[in-house]
Amino acid sequence: MLRLATQATLSRLSQPVEQPEQYRGQIENLIGVIRVPLGIAGPLAVNGHFASGVFYVPLATTEGTLVLAVTRGAEVMTAAGGPTVYASDQQVTRAPLFVFQSGAAARSAATWVVENYALLRSAAESTTRHGRLLWIEPTVLGRRLVLEFTYQTGDACGQNMVTFATDAVCQWLRERSPFDDVEFFTIESNISHDKKATNLTHVHRRGRRVNADITIPREKVLRGFRTAPEGMARVTREGTYGCVVSGVVGAQAQFANVLAALFVATGQDVATVAECGTGLTIVEVTEDGDLHASVTIPNLMVGTVGGGTRLAGQQECLELMGCAGAGCAGKLAEIAGAAILAGELALVASLASNTFAQAHAAFGRPPRPGAQR
Ligand code: NAP
Repeated sequence: MLRLATQATLSRLSQPVEQPEQYRGQIENLIGVIRVPLGIAGPLAVNGHFASGVFYVPLATTEGTLVLAVTRGAEVMTAAGGPTVYASDQQVTRAPLFVFQSGAAARSAATWVVENYALLRSAAESTTRHGRLLWIEPTVLGRRLVLEFTYQTGDACGQNMVTFATDAVCQWLRERSPFDDVEFFTIESNISHDKKATNLTHVHRRGRRVNADITIPREKVLRGFRTAPEGMARVTREGTYGCVVSGVVGAQAQFANVLAALFVATGQDVATVAECGTGLTIVEVTEDGDLHASVTIPNLMVGTVGGGTRLAGQQECLELMGCAGAGCAGKLAEIAGAAILAGELALVASLASNTFAQAHAAFGRPPRPGAQR
């Protein structure tokens, strides 16, 4: 049908899909599988609360230089003992909107929710074994009421989990006064910042808050990055001014690059890069002339069960880091934090040493026929 409608040959895409049943619940109108090249960055030493040891990080991308850059950052950090990383628990939000007849009705509904929280929590938790409702924050906007539900989602990324739980609460609410009289209802008001970078990112967590930092001795910076700590700190500072002027949420170099590649490799919901790919990178020179660098990723959404993590190749990528299955989501978040720091340092170093364009010219394009690398 597609061939007739489009005249495309589809010679690759028309190959039979291996085990098509594995994609049920992951995609509709399945016609094929797109192959994305997978590279390995590392070895990367990580001193985390959940992730401790040396890891090999799978990155699926078509951006030449990315795997090389993360590997370079990992190499220098590993030679300095690896970064210290901490990932908090995962908090995932869903924020339905109710429009009442008046501001007074919206305010009294907000009070009703606070007073009946225990009932709402049991309605939510009846839909899941691992999800826990932590709190509901009501916000009145004129005659509108937004209820921001915040859940812990275990080792799942949790978007389906929190949607099903919140939907159960909303159905229960809408059969009862004062919610049986709402003029308008929608399960998402856009205040949860699901798949959007917002100004709430740094204060209202959606996902795990991950911090990674490292001190790298001066001579290791000079040898590994072929540039001085002062230059790297200056590039980062100047880049922060640029982020301020251009209105970037946070200030960092390439969180989204590392995250998108890791997310494709490990079966995460890639579109959450919109909310996860923001944060802060700080690079400073210590009093001893060494380099101190840190990244803060305020909203890192990762799971090691559920979603696309079920697929065979993605499972193998998780296994590669010892992150497949229950009990591993914090570990994956910390490895991601360390990989992001590696990517930041490598990019900052290439800017400081003015080799950014050269590196992309050498590795970011296919070689011209007959050209030497
Ligand atoms: P999911 O695959 O829908 O649910 C996770 C499943 O894993 C649940 O059935 C959960 O059971 C089970 N589970 C087993 N062991 C677990 C453990 N240790 N910790 C947590 N759960 C465990 O995945 P999800 O993470 O909720 O949702 C992610 C998917 O939602 C992605 O595919 C994403 O693309 C999609 N998505 C959905 C929405 C939406 O609004 N619905 C929005 C964006 C993305 P229990 O629930 O019984 O605990």
